[in-house]
Amino acid sequence: MAANEDNNGDADRGYVLSIAENAIAPENIKKRCCFACGGPPSTGQGEHVIPKWLQRKFSLHDERLGLLNQTLIPYRHLTVPCCTPCNTGFLSEIERKVQSIVDRGEIGSDDEQLAIARWMAKILIGILVLETALLLDRKNPSLGSIVPVDWIQELHHCHLILQSARKPTIFNCLHSPFPFSAYWYKIEYQENEFPFDLSTNIIGQSIAMRLGCLGIVLINDGGLQMEVGPKGPFDLLGSTVSETQFSELYARIHYKSSLRDATHFYINSESPTSIIINQETVRPYTSTLLPGGEIKIFRPWDETTFSYIASRATGADRSIFFDPATGKRGTFLGNLLGEDMVERSDAN
Ligand SMILES: [Zn+2]
Repeated sequence: MAANEDNNGDADRGYVLSIAENAIAPENIKKRCCFACGGPPSTGQGEHVIPKWLQRKFSLHDERLGLLNQTLIPYRHLTVPCCTPCNTGFLSEIERKVQSIVDRGEIGSDDEQLAIARWMAKILIGILVLETALLLDRKNPSLGSIVPVDWIQELHHCHLILQSARKPTIFNCLHSPFPFSAYWYKIEYQENEFPFDLSTNIIGQSIAMRLGCLGIVLINDGGLQMEVGPKGPFDLLGSTVSETQFSELYARIHYKSSLRDATHFYINSESPTSIIINQETVRPYTSTLLPGGEIKIFRPWDETTFSYIASRATGADRSIFFDPATGKRGTFLGNLLGEDMVERSDAN
């Protein structure tokens, strides 16, 4: 990072790995530079975090996003500083690819999975950058912004997913084809239901979206959740689920993401024509060994905590998911599972 501090000039712009570092540099976030490259932003509106085509498709203009400080902002006002080359260049190309996937309601290939992941990485980064510019408490500015500027550096790996759209990229990863975990579901169409839902877990860096008949969850965890569950909770990847069932699934994934106890060490390289992202090793935050001698990469699942998260996501009473009096666990996914699956201890 130090090498880039005095070198934000055009000579460096061609190198995507430098662009990613410039974009997360605290001084650039503070100066309200372009969220995607760290360069001077255009004087226009900036980039809509929830793209306009999506707002039109699902009539979201007056829908509001709840921020971490409990304020609500209409989607149409959710913009982050962006420069014209990023806005009309690689970002609009990402949007174009995603529109056809959302219209079809299905993810058919690794390429489409990567396209969706870049798009969701952009939205997750956008929401957090927006929160660095807003005060936690408008009546008490000394408390600072909702998300501290320095925190954006945590999104470095998330930026690599997004920035890989700028240049052909080879991923050499330990757990899955790409350095993230992602799960998708088909949503049963119900005429009286609102077709859109957006939910994030900032601590676990996960984001879930319901887009009509497609539900997707992305976790910026280098693929660790895929390592323990390649098909997600109860192996339901790609299944057809109801709106409530999708909410329970993303609650499970969000909670799991917040239990992550490890990150990765990367050695990346770049030539004028390509980028190579090499995920070298898993780096545990603590060196706790499991009984079998494996390094622990997730902290233990707690049913009580999960029941609060699932209750918030689904609107259902938390005793449905866990009843502390009887110790009984429950799920809305019962019709998709055999009875023994519900009680399976590794179903988290
Ligand atoms: Zn830019």
